[in-house]
Amino acid sequence: MRIFEKDGITFIMEKKKVKRLSLTLKKDGNFVSVPLSVSYAEAEKFVSEKTKWVKKHRETIPIKKEEKYLSGDEVFILGEKLILEIFFSEKKKKAEIINGRIFLYVKNPEDYDERKKAFSDFCKDILMKEVPAILREHEEKTGLSSSGVRYRTMKSRWGSCNVVTKEICLNTALATHPIECLSYVIMHEIIHIAEPSHNARFKALMTHYMPDWKERKAILNK
Ligand SMILES: [Zn+2]
Repeated sequence: MRIFEKDGITFIMEKKKVKRLSLTLKKDGNFVSVPLSVSYAEAEKFVSEKTKWVKKHRETIPIKKEEKYLSGDEVFILGEKLILEIFFSEKKKKAEIINGRIFLYVKNPEDYDERKKAFSDFCKDILMKEVPAILREHEEKTGLSSSGVRYRTMKSRWGSCNVVTKEICLNTALATHPIECLSYVIMHEIIHIAEPSHNARFKALMTHYMPDWKERKAILNK
């Protein structure tokens, strides 16, 4: 990593396995991804020509609030508030919850991407533990059956259902919400197997199988 300053702007440069040089403005700094084949000197030249642009965008573009995943941060797992602890570990080690704290082990605690991935991997583990029983219960209740579940980090949706393959996809971030909300999303996706659109029939089926789905949805999107 290298810090570079120009016209009063600080750039945080990092060599990465990426195809091209890129500059990203985040809440906690201006980050430059430098391909392994590009020298820091070249990267400095690249960002030196962008200082005007950075100043303009820093002023006009609201920087999206992002989790930093640092030790001491509050995070939620199945709706329960926990304190995050980031620890260095040379070897791959599974995250664990001990006395209200969640311990995440990473090779480089300074690396935001690694911390974020460790948290999302942990969320996926939680879902893999919780989802199968809920899914089975909903399938038995509705008489509908899925072909399987996948877990992904998604930006704009909680889940999706491929009505052709009957495969359900769930957002790993669901692991941070109460289990009632997770159960609601699974039911929502299962019902799509019977009714692909969000029409009156879909809502009637939801209400039939999960009378309080609207409350659960409200809690999830709060
Ligand atoms: Zn839907």
